Amino acid sequence: MDLVVGGGVVGLSIAWRLARAGRTVTVVDPAPASGASHAAAGMLAPVSEVTYTEEPLLRLGLASLRRWPSFAAELLAESGVELDYRVDGTLDVAFGTDDLAALDELAAFMDKLGLPVERLTGRECRRLEPMLAPSVRGGLLAPQDAWVDPRRVTTALLAALSKLRVPVIRARATELLREGEAVKGVRLAPREAGPYQEVLEADRVILAAGVWSGELAGVPVRPVKGQIMRLHSPTPLLTRCVRGTVHGASVYLVPRGDGELVVGATQEELGFDTRVTAGGVYELLRDARELVPGVTELELADVVAGLRPSTPDNVPLIGPWQGLTLATGHHRGGVLLAPLTAALVAGEEGELAELCSPGRYA
Ligand code: FAD
Repeated sequence: MDLVVGGGVVGLSIAWRLARAGRTVTVVDPAPASGASHAAAGMLAPVSEVTYTEEPLLRLGLASLRRWPSFAAELLAESGVELDYRVDGTLDVAFGTDDLAALDELAAFMDKLGLPVERLTGRECRRLEPMLAPSVRGGLLAPQDAWVDPRRVTTALLAALSKLRVPVIRARATELLREGEAVKGVRLAPREAGPYQEVLEADRVILAAGVWSGELAGVPVRPVKGQIMRLHSPTPLLTRCVRGTVHGASVYLVPRGDGELVVGATQEELGFDTRVTAGGVYELLRDARELVPGVTELELADVVAGLRPSTPDNVPLIGPWQGLTLATGHHRGGVLLAPLTAALVAGEEGELAELCSPGRYA
């Protein structure tokens, strides 16, 4: 039996992938889909999301982006849950001369990768997205970029697992149980509901507990806090994902099919702090308004703070580690990287396994 510890987008994708391959799988999580996956914007944009000097991460992101169309189609077919998966591209906009130069550099880089991009004038940007600020001077359209609603993805994964009769046990793992070198199960914290089991035994333990993986296995992951808000508008303000740099910070707006507009996100190194702060909300709205002035008219529906599980080199940790299998450290790209991570844990994509091997921190 494979035991997946952690039911965020990463752990649930792995469990689904393994169960479909005929493995017996159990997931354990006190509150599935409540971690970073609940906060994420859901951009599937490996080039614009990643600093493009991070080549290994970029290779992983592009490989996972290629997996998304079939992952989304199969998940929809098996769960019946609409994912709001869209491939309508990202428009990266610039205000000043420095920003325009950075876009030119990014365009050249994407061109080198064979990714089609289009350099646009300010007027062309506003023709695509009429609600953009008049001060936008240029932009870069990356039509291959996609996005998805991560909350729908985890709902769909839980539904697909339920159909495959994969148990999702609502409990917290407190300790790894070792037999010699190998981890052969976990001890569980007592819980109020359901039959209490003190331990869960397994042939293989896969640790996918996001930023909390460190507590269980001494893994080098640290929390990077992100505050993010959801606005609601009766008529969509944007047709595609729009991003830009304002006051030195990156801000993005992601439209959803149901009229929601996601505005994100802060990046704060504050440990396990998940407070939503007045300053965080102020900065997000201030910067988003520079890109699209109309955002301040929209209804504020939801603000949350999530903890990105980040590694020292921003590359995830997927593979063997001290007697268990790790699948954590996905930083800003766990939604994008979920299909690839599941494939790697299932033993596919061998040539990419080295890039994210936890062995680099042994
Ligand atoms: P999590 O979603 O954090 O899940 C970990 C799970 O482990 C939780 O359900 C928790 O309850 C469980 N757990 C914890 N401790 C235990 C234990 N002891 N026993 C059992 N279970 C346990 N990524 C993208 O690809 N695109 C984006 O646009 C994007 N935007 C983001 C915006 C924000 C504001 C943030 C915060 C993140 C964003 N990310 C994005 C990153 C993405 O959210 C993460 O990389 C991803 O969600 C990590 O998934 P995970 O399953 O590893 O962790």
